[in-house]
Amino acid sequence: MRLHEYQSKQIFSKFGIPIPRGRVANNASNARQIAEELMTKVVVKAQVLSGGRGKAGGILLAESPEMAETLATKILSMTINQLPVHKVLVDEAVDIEQELYLGITIDRELCLPVIIASAQGGVEIEDTAQKTPEKIAKMPIPILLGVKEYQIRNLSLAIDLPKKYWRPFFLISQGLWQVFRQTDVVLAEINPLVITEKGDLLALDGKIELDDNALFRHEELLELRDLDMEDEVEIEARKVGISYIRLNGNVGCMVNGAGLAMATMDVIKHFGGEPANFLDIGGGASAEKVAAALRLILSDPKVKSVLVNIFGGITRCDEVARGMVQILTKVSNRVPIVIRLEGNHAREAQEILMQQHIQTVVSFTEAAKEAIKLARGE
Ligand code: GDP
Ligand code: MN
Repeated sequence: MRLHEYQSKQIFSKFGIPIPRGRVANNASNARQIAEELMTKVVVKAQVLSGGRGKAGGILLAESPEMAETLATKILSMTINQLPVHKVLVDEAVDIEQELYLGITIDRELCLPVIIASAQGGVEIEDTAQKTPEKIAKMPIPILLGVKEYQIRNLSLAIDLPKKYWRPFFLISQGLWQVFRQTDVVLAEINPLVITEKGDLLALDGKIELDDNALFRHEELLELRDLDMEDEVEIEARKVGISYIRLNGNVGCMVNGAGLAMATMDVIKHFGGEPANFLDIGGGASAEKVAAALRLILSDPKVKSVLVNIFGGITRCDEVARGMVQILTKVSNRVPIVIRLEGNHAREAQEILMQQHIQTVVSFTEAAKEAIKLARGE
């Protein structure tokens, strides 16, 4: 789960990381009011869960409260990377001397958190990472020790940070480490971390990605979830307890077990098809859950065929078949469906389907090939 900039910065602030003064607004007149309170020029920032807002025109400087209102109106009518802007952050504008990058994430190869810094932060960071990776310094953080001052001194040296900023840079790094540990995040990023013309370090932008598997430890953070930013079908799926991730292909997949679901997508790809989704109905799914899953898949207009691949262990194939019949007998003009069911109560399942004149396929690979063919309209 990803947090908005304003939410991320509030968390940063709790852990002692300096942020600009400012507040979030739902509408333009509110934005104007905030600008009036701040009594200085402000920056109006689109709050969408997407990077590159600056480049998309979603970050604008306002010289006056009137201008803040005008710009907020404009930004609130935008969509950025297909996401509608429902909120703007109004922050006091800062005169920037230099833009740094600072982030903490998990390095999967090292199996450790790493702290990453660059003296060339800002909107071109991806470019820097690609063209001049030597300008980005990375250091592993021993989990039990955390972030130590000598280590951050090395990091400061590695990015040629002037000595007078070493101490505040260390304190911010330590704060970011606390955010990482105590909030259970997989990514905490400040880009840019700026050196202001006054000589202060300030987190101008903030990005936090929470570890979904640790959310149960942070009930207060669950309230920060912004459903406007999420795929409606994925929200629906979560409600009924189905893991569903929308993809770009045209072969809808209904599978039990995450491993088999991944394997199914691999096999579709292997034979030249494109999966429309990842979907795991979980173990021991009821007919109702199966029906809900199938409904979700069929609601995607990109889906041109559906591959059902069930290996019944805890899951009973006959239960799955009943769920499918619930939908398939109701929905007219449906896309073709290829069904492969094996294992627990497979024979009963086949009988249930046969009564409705629904065919099944025995082999996983044959089923995949057939589904791909049907998706192509062959
Ligand atoms: P992003 O494009 O989504 O990463 O949004 P950021 O919050 O990082 O803003 C993008 C860029 O806008 C920054 O890198 C800055 O160059 C600029 N910017 C943001 N806030 C201010 C500000 O207060 N003053 C000035 N001068 N520039 C700002
Ligand atoms: Mn940024």
